[in-house]
Amino acid sequence: MTKTHQFDVVVVGAGGAGLMAGLYASKTAKTAVISKLYPTRSHTGAAQGGISAALGNYEEDRPEWHTYDTVKGSDYLGDQDAIEFMCNEAVDAVLELEHMGLPFDRTPEGKISQRPFGGHTNNVTGKPVRRAAHAADRTGHMILQTLYQQCLKNKVNFFDEYQVLDFIMVNGKAAGVVAVELSTGELHVIHAKAVIFATGGHGRIFEVTSNAYAYTGDGAAILLRHGIPLEDMEFFQFHPTGIYKLGILITEGVRGEGGVLINGKGERFMPKYAPSVKDLASRDVVSRAIYTEIKEGRGVDGKNFVYLDIRPETVNRIAAEDGRTNVDGSKYNLTAEQVLQKLPDIIDFCRVYLGVDPVTQMMPIQPTAHYTMGGIPTNKFGEVVVDDKNTPFPGLYAAGECACVSVHGGNRLGTNSLLDLVVFGKYAGLKAAEYANQSEFEKLPVGAESESMAQFEALKNGSGKENVFKLSNELKKVMFADVGIYRNEKDMLSALEKVRELKVRFKDVTVSDTGKIFNTELLNAWELGNLLEIAEVIAMSAANRKESRGGHSREDFPDRDDVNWLKHTLIWNKDGKLEIGYKPVVITKHQPKARVY
Ligand SMILES: Cc1cc2nc3c(=O)[nH]c(=O)nc-3n(C[C@H](O)[C@H](O)[C@H](O)COP(=O)(O)OP(=O)(O)OC[C@H]3O[C@@H](n4cnc5c(N)ncnc54)[C@H](O)[C@@H]3O)c2cc1C
Repeated sequence: MTKTHQFDVVVVGAGGAGLMAGLYASKTAKTAVISKLYPTRSHTGAAQGGISAALGNYEEDRPEWHTYDTVKGSDYLGDQDAIEFMCNEAVDAVLELEHMGLPFDRTPEGKISQRPFGGHTNNVTGKPVRRAAHAADRTGHMILQTLYQQCLKNKVNFFDEYQVLDFIMVNGKAAGVVAVELSTGELHVIHAKAVIFATGGHGRIFEVTSNAYAYTGDGAAILLRHGIPLEDMEFFQFHPTGIYKLGILITEGVRGEGGVLINGKGERFMPKYAPSVKDLASRDVVSRAIYTEIKEGRGVDGKNFVYLDIRPETVNRIAAEDGRTNVDGSKYNLTAEQVLQKLPDIIDFCRVYLGVDPVTQMMPIQPTAHYTMGGIPTNKFGEVVVDDKNTPFPGLYAAGECACVSVHGGNRLGTNSLLDLVVFGKYAGLKAAEYANQSEFEKLPVGAESESMAQFEALKNGSGKENVFKLSNELKKVMFADVGIYRNEKDMLSALEKVRELKVRFKDVTVSDTGKIFNTELLNAWELGNLLEIAEVIAMSAANRKESRGGHSREDFPDRDDVNWLKHTLIWNKDGKLEIGYKPVVITKHQPKARVY
């Protein structure tokens, strides 16, 4: 029996974006937050390094500089009106988190402590600026816990461990979602006036990734099936420093604290690729540099990794060579105690997973698939927009990593995602509640859950010729190898063909568990269906964009081409066939300039 519930606003996802949206919507509207994970297990909790805001707590900083750095980091594909909005809101957003009780690290005077991160600069001197507010290397964990407590205090209704399978639309408006309760297998229809998607990214299409197992692109895939386009899906960020083979992230904060990259010959190589900002160049630049070192035979022992070195003696020697000082101009002197205090979690990861102690040994690292720049198109109020004229879809909102506002454009700067969650999560919540309070409920269609039931039935009754894990591994391998850090036409088209073949083979998948209680096998299979759809969209958008920009790097088109490609990609599913269109980039103050490293 399907159960039906009714709320003004329903939020899908309980990460930073979903909780912020739920918190703000619940101030004026009856709100539910649905999450396939227990809320505090969301990937936001894995964020380590920090959240950016031009607080200027150590040195001069300005929202305009933050804006320019973000525009430049996006390789001019970010929409500048949205970027200005986010960077101007940043200071208040971080102070609001502080007032909610978030335990930020402190400066000696008691202000919120900040650390440098790649691409964040003083626009006058060009030197790195300390812009990332942090709570050790557990900033995301603290944000998640703080927001969850606030939601509980505000009596937000949580549906924990319910997985949303479908979106309900009636008369071209949002009308709710269909979800399965994981502990019973029962289907639920949540009837709502406004729906906010905050389902995170889809990094699990790649073999080596820093992303959680839950990153299967559910929200984006569900909306794609309903004719909503996805934007700039070719742009995926590879983070330079994942633990070798495992992909687990080693925060950029390590390089922020003075850590450096060393190749197999013992050389520090970043000055060769980015003479001015060196190891703190933006992520796409550093990932490509590591890839090139490895490809040219300078990986460690001929293998696919290089070292990240945070040993105090190395850091202090290089700081002296680079002229890096403390804020008061005194000699930079990192101690083993400070490494332990500032980076406790990554020290733990290395000790536990690698048997390597970063205080005395170098860490083996390789680039890891990290962040989804593209996603469900929205404007700066979190309203989902469905065409090149930015027409909003009534009652539908998206925020966080699943959305594309677009503030990150071709490449996101570190610490700008946590900021994106709190700023756009808040506005999505406010706008959804405002909309719901002015609207009536649409009448629910009969059998709203039938599509979800059919999907489950198909998975339970497939021919059984194919196995979910085998298909999933084939997908991850081909996407990492052929639609990864460096791309070219031939490889991408063969990846696209392979993904299409996998989609056909997916029809022959069957699940052996026919039970109802926590049937994770069935849900993994359903999620693979989403990953396959998203992978096809990524491979097709990437093969279509014939230039290199931000995280999209083509060997066959190595240059950025503003004449033909300074535009967003939109991709629609039209009766099972993907169709590509475009929309203009919003440029306010900053005309595109060539990249200087
Ligand atoms: C290891 C790591 C470190 C990072 N470090 C930083 C950093 O230091 N600074 C920074 O700015 N950014 C960082 N990022 C990026 C940033 O953390 C993420 O982009 C951000 O946290 C995503 O938040 P979100 O709210 O969009 O999604 P999430 O926090 O992942 O939440 C997604 C939610 O959606 C729910 N969900 C998904 N599908 C369904 C479904 N079908 N039904 C119901 N619920 C569903 C999940 O249960 C979850 O609650 C990091 C990312 C990673 C992976």
